[in-house]
Amino acid sequence: MNRPGISAATTVVGVMGDPVAHSLSPLLHNTAFAALGLDWVSVGFAVPGGQAPAAVAGAQVLGIRGLSVTMPHKEAVVGLCDELSPSARRLAAVNCLSLASGRVVGHNTDGEGVTGALARGAGLEVAGRAAMVLGAGGAARAAVLALAGAGAAEVVVVNRTPWRAEAAAALAAGAGRVGTAADAASVAVVVQATPAGMAGTASSGDEPPVPGAALGPGQVALDLVYHPRRTSWLEAAAGAGATPVEGVGVLVHQAAAQLRVFTGQEPPVAAMWAAVSGGEGAAADP
Ligand code: NAP
Repeated sequence: MNRPGISAATTVVGVMGDPVAHSLSPLLHNTAFAALGLDWVSVGFAVPGGQAPAAVAGAQVLGIRGLSVTMPHKEAVVGLCDELSPSARRLAAVNCLSLASGRVVGHNTDGEGVTGALARGAGLEVAGRAAMVLGAGGAARAAVLALAGAGAAEVVVVNRTPWRAEAAAALAAGAGRVGTAADAASVAVVVQATPAGMAGTASSGDEPPVPGAALGPGQVALDLVYHPRRTSWLEAAAGAGATPVEGVGVLVHQAAAQLRVFTGQEPPVAAMWAAVSGGEGAAADP
């Protein structure tokens, strides 16, 4: 059956990953294309680990305009790029490929997801404020770089493996340092970027390195975990008086930034928000 609006002239983008069937990227991108009146479509491509070079080469031949990149390919595609954005180069990770004009350009919009969600979800501009990031993996590193880039006065990293915490804090240059849970009292925002509390995983019963209840009024709590959408960590932070921001907002804003990369147009963020509001998120993209 032919879907209305899709034809041989439709521009195709997609998300490549494994697993990919429950990714929310196509929903977010297709919502944006409809709102912008663009004859574009976004679909999922299940690409097993190790197959990124073939997938990207194939996408170029097929005229696919761009790809959102998720597990397990974020690092593997870096070496396939003709050009990297500054954040993709610093993070050595790519979550979005532009394939226009015969060139492969790698971007990383995860950090824009964090700052966008904080601004829209809590009205928080981080410039001049102290921030804390829990974890030191890919998502945490993107958060550290973005918070520093947005002018945070200090970015404190708390992680169970110290050398990884040091490496993540170094991304914030002079503003970054490794800290402990005791530092939480003096920051404006805590970004929870470990998988602790994520439903359906071995980490579901774990507690992040700083308890949500340790936060309080005047502080913002952002949990990157969004399954469940309102985590027990966020509940505890909200219960203690902090302003909670759900991780699904990060997903919306990183997808919005990808939309800008793909189309050059301003993303319809409100429509994208509406597309994911009112329900539990599907499986995580990252
Ligand atoms: P990752 O690269 O595997 O890094 C995980 C980090 O969390 C590591 O620093 C690890 O510590 C720490 N960690 C893992 N399990 C822990 C536990 N049980 N208790 C305390 N610390 C733990 O993962 P990632 O890609 O950064 O993703 C992290 C989470 O963010 C995932 O749940 C992911 O789904 C979510 N995420 C959400 C969005 C969004 O749009 N909302 C975007 C990106 C990621 P060690 O260094 O000691 O191993």
